Amino acid sequence: MNDQYPPHQPTKMKEISSSEFENEVLAGGKVVLDFYSTECPPCEAVAPKFEGLAKLYGNDIKFVKMFRQQNKPLAEKLGVKSSPTLLFFDKGVQVAETLTGGIKRSDIIHQLDRMLTDERVKEIKKDIIPTVSEFDVLILGAGPGGLTAGLYLCQSKVNTVLIDIALPGGHVSTTHEVSNYPGFIDPQPGYLLSHNMSEQTKLCGTIYKVAVDVSKIDLEKKEVVVDEFETIRAKKIIIATGTSPNLMGIAGERELKGKGISYCATCDAKYYGDKEVVVIGGGNSAVEEADFISRFAGKITMVHQFDAFTANKQAQEKLFANPKISVLFEHEPRSFAREGDKIITEVENLKTKTKTKLESDGVFVFIGMKPNIDLFMDKLELDNWGYIKTNEDMQTSMPDVYAVGDVISKKYRQITTAVADGTIAAIAIAKELS
Ligand SMILES: Cc1cc2nc3c(=O)[nH]c(=O)nc-3n(C[C@H](O)[C@H](O)[C@H](O)COP(=O)(O)OP(=O)(O)OC[C@H]3O[C@@H](n4cnc5c(N)ncnc54)[C@H](O)[C@@H]3O)c2cc1C
Repeated sequence: MNDQYPPHQPTKMKEISSSEFENEVLAGGKVVLDFYSTECPPCEAVAPKFEGLAKLYGNDIKFVKMFRQQNKPLAEKLGVKSSPTLLFFDKGVQVAETLTGGIKRSDIIHQLDRMLTDERVKEIKKDIIPTVSEFDVLILGAGPGGLTAGLYLCQSKVNTVLIDIALPGGHVSTTHEVSNYPGFIDPQPGYLLSHNMSEQTKLCGTIYKVAVDVSKIDLEKKEVVVDEFETIRAKKIIIATGTSPNLMGIAGERELKGKGISYCATCDAKYYGDKEVVVIGGGNSAVEEADFISRFAGKITMVHQFDAFTANKQAQEKLFANPKISVLFEHEPRSFAREGDKIITEVENLKTKTKTKLESDGVFVFIGMKPNIDLFMDKLELDNWGYIKTNEDMQTSMPDVYAVGDVISKKYRQITTAVADGTIAAIAIAKELS
């Protein structure tokens, strides 16, 4: 994946513990420190980017990482509230912006460049060798839709590349348990199901370019640029970029995102052992994830705008039987603020219009999703909600561009429906190319 970096450069990265923080970081000159966790897909996505950049910048900036679960007191002292978190130091002082969550390679580069002179940055970047490669099919997004399309195309001997800004797996990899994917008697951990899907496609021979930055997409030319210098061309493109969580869009959210407000229970719930948590939302995701968070947290207050949940009945029954969880129906959050170690969520009772302040150690937001179409939204026909319109072969309004999974206009967004879309697109494309 990092073959664009000079091959002679060894990785210059070191794992440290909090006892080494003083020597390695505070007395270490220019340093970037990655706090990571296990069972954390965004951490796994950052790791190869961090390693690749360590090769490139390692002569000027020291790259160190620390396991957050085993170094909790230091992480808390440094204000680290979510994984991964990247902190930048120069001569013992924290510089540049703290990066958390789904960190892009370009965001890290931006912060690293700020720590060096312009001349030095130019010299370092001279080592990067631009490349161009050609495939029959390029799939953008390695969730269930993209992985299934990759599998079918590979089995039809179609030369396919699968590109993802994160590691393969999509939303399934951050879902703690999947109980409705056919073929398994017991509920499956989401990371395992997505790992198996990904391995099946990879073993078949599909080429993977994952945890990369997608810098440019030209749908007309069927050309995608990753990490700014690797151009990938194909005869056909399948868009399988799925959806991202909606933000509340209220005061304090942006500032506290990744610093007490989280959108991923699998990543962050384990840090709330016996603590108090607010969960916002009332659909399947909110209800199922609240139940998962209750394995760790001591008390959960759910805030939902309607007078009943929209989640399925089975999930609701489980939630109502959970003594750790209470619900504020017909309430809506109005703002978030930090007071010391606590997050204050101001909620409004939609009936009485009275406002109350909820004090908690953390907040999880699950209020629906929006399609990931930013890089090509003005090129394709979309429905009123911004999802891509396709025909029954999954073809979009542009020739040779297909779309599958949650990103397309449809009624039901599930793993099974994404997998079905991927199957259809791949069979249609394989027939056209043969
Ligand atoms: C919390 C939660 C729980 C769920 N539980 C269930 C369940 O129990 N059962 C069920 O059937 N469904 C469940 N779902 C829904 C299910 O996860 C989705 O329907 C399914 O993952 C959709 O697959 P997809 O491939 O379309 O997209 P995704 O899984 O969203 O994958 C999209 C991929 O595209 C990548 N990507 C995004 N932008 C770009 C870009 N510009 N370039 C390249 N790659 C990009 C992303 O990194 C991601 O890997 C759940 C969803 C959530 C959020």
